[in-house]
Amino acid sequence: MNSGYERFRHDLVTGACAERGWECRVEHTTIGALMDDILDDGDTPCSLCARLRRGVLYRMATEVGATKIALGHHLDDFIETALLNLFFQGALKAMPARLVSDSKKHIVIRPLVYVSEAEARSYTQEVGLPVIGCCCPACGDLSLKRQRMKRLIAELEVEHPDIKHSMITALGNVVPSHLIDRRLQPVLDIAASLSA
Ligand code: SF4
Repeated sequence: MNSGYERFRHDLVTGACAERGWECRVEHTTIGALMDDILDDGDTPCSLCARLRRGVLYRMATEVGATKIALGHHLDDFIETALLNLFFQGALKAMPARLVSDSKKHIVIRPLVYVSEAEARSYTQEVGLPVIGCCCPACGDLSLKRQRMKRLIAELEVEHPDIKHSMITALGNVVPSHLIDRRLQPVLDIAASLSA
């Protein structure tokens, strides 16, 4: 998906696909300009951008009759998102590896959940796949909270090399009884209300 930023090298993607005989369709959009109109100075653009792109993906999936939409978020994205939500959103969540859309018409999957960014990067080098940036103004902005999370994890990883593995394992190893969300303990709530 081309958000409409100059220098976005979608030609590299189409070229790589053509070389391998893979079907490829580039969807040209004006999402970049639209965000410039909607957002105020200093706003973080990524969540709006993701919502707009998701809408386009759903439309494209319907057009081509796709049964699943696979997104490329990797292990590092999951654990960075978990920290972002923990530190800044007051929520204990990462992102779904499988999600049914609100309309129930689409299934979004993230099959790279257990693949680290470093592994994905070295794989692309090994098989000669091009890596292109989205070219949006926010891309690589070191002031973004996500970049801070990335640096934090990298710093901790120096002392604790297994930290990413532990974090992704934790996302699949939730212990509801040791959290304080009452929605996770309906049986206890019912017992408490009966004894009250
Ligand atoms: S970095 Fe740019 S392209 Fe990526 S989600 Fe944020 S605004 Fe969108």
